[in-house]
Amino acid sequence: MRYVERVLEQLKAKNPGEPEFHQAATEILTSLEPVLSRHPEYEAAGLLERFIEPERVILFRVPWVDDKGCVHVNKGYRVQFNSAIGPYKGGLRFHPSVNLSIIKFLGLEQILKNSLTGLPIGGGKGGSDFDPKGKSDAEVMRFCQSFMTELCRHVGQDTDVPAGDIGVGGREIGYLFGQYKRIRNEHVGVLTGRGLSYGGSLARTEATGYGLVYMTAEAMKCRGDSFEGKTVIISGSGNVAIYACEKAQTLGAKVVAMYDSNGYIYDKNGIKLNVIKDIKEVERGRIKTYADRVDGAIYHEGCKGIWAIPCDVALPCATQNEIDEASAKLLVKNGVKYVGEGANMPTTLEGIAVFQKAGTVFLPAKAANAGGVATSALEMAQSSSRLFWTFEEVDRKLKGIMESIYHNMDEAAREYGMEGNYVAGANLAGFKKVAEAMMAQGIV
Ligand code: NDP
Repeated sequence: MRYVERVLEQLKAKNPGEPEFHQAATEILTSLEPVLSRHPEYEAAGLLERFIEPERVILFRVPWVDDKGCVHVNKGYRVQFNSAIGPYKGGLRFHPSVNLSIIKFLGLEQILKNSLTGLPIGGGKGGSDFDPKGKSDAEVMRFCQSFMTELCRHVGQDTDVPAGDIGVGGREIGYLFGQYKRIRNEHVGVLTGRGLSYGGSLARTEATGYGLVYMTAEAMKCRGDSFEGKTVIISGSGNVAIYACEKAQTLGAKVVAMYDSNGYIYDKNGIKLNVIKDIKEVERGRIKTYADRVDGAIYHEGCKGIWAIPCDVALPCATQNEIDEASAKLLVKNGVKYVGEGANMPTTLEGIAVFQKAGTVFLPAKAANAGGVATSALEMAQSSSRLFWTFEEVDRKLKGIMESIYHNMDEAAREYGMEGNYVAGANLAGFKKVAEAMMAQGIV
């Protein structure tokens, strides 16, 4: 049996009931075959077996008290996956769907994503099944304090540096940081995505969405194309979606649809982003109310229908497995030319196959959404040096990083005879550096 097949079979047997982890591992490992056949020494060193096993998994209880005095208990997770090229780095997700499988798939992806940025950061991920939606600020604060009371003994600026993800934005990072500082008595860059008044970086908030659009624009430029006049669909209406929309609009595109987990809005005149920002960033409300505020906009209950809207560019920016085979086929039928993944693993394996067969330019998450973690690494550099850069300086570096990731994965795909296959290109380019570092460090 081939090495990859054998490792995948072992992974499924040893980690039953973890479908998202199996899915991510299958996507990654199967695309690494060309590099493994060039390096037989990797198999002898058990490199893949070590690569897919987290260095450490931390599971903990998070008890907290709501405003009525009732006690709740949530699950807390931190997966410290791989530190071969730098301290563990990856976000925290607070969402009721969070489980070990999801955190492990995100952590595995994160290793290669972080490597692709060219910066010295390893891979990790964490979170909780806590749902911040509908909770008061005081409840969110008590939850974050309880979460960090345990997490603080496992993280540190040179060990593991978490950041935000779904359900963890500026408010949550602030509460988590406050508790870390209180317990450890050190004001250090242990979390990224911090507020500007306490060590954060300009442009971090915008980074993932902007970065996604910078990379898509570079892919377009290489084909003599641009965002100018393009019709764009963006799923989600959170941090990544909002700033992807902002940058796409700045580059001349018309974004016609967005959603939250209840349903989507279609605005044929182009989304008014200031209205979305008011609803989502200020009021923490539902996207449905957009249709009450903007003439001509229509709200549809449920999310799936968004992919039936004809567009040139689709930017899935909400969550995993948003685009399945049927949705991918609809997008292709309606003429989509570019798909850039802002969310992590938003396209199923079958959906990816549809895009690749149709010749759609498909930019996979670990490359296309790496702008967030890249800027987090820039935040780490700024906090260590205690010198902070202007918005323009960070934004310029971000754009440069995204363009260079695009070219690195493009070249890796060509080098292994898979021109235009960026899923393989991103995995191969990201894996190369991690594999070399792991080989150099012995069997650990
Ligand atoms: P946010 O919490 O800010 O926004 C998430 C958005 O997705 C919300 O609009 C939310 O709707 C929607 N959503 C969440 N779950 C579902 C679901 N099951 N079905 C439909 N819609 C859903 O998160 P982010 O914008 O930070 O993250 C979005 C994605 O991008 C995630 O996959 C994350 O891992 C990835 N990512 C984020 C980075 C960052 O810097 N923030 C960096 C790299 C990747 P609702 O409000 O109704 O829940």
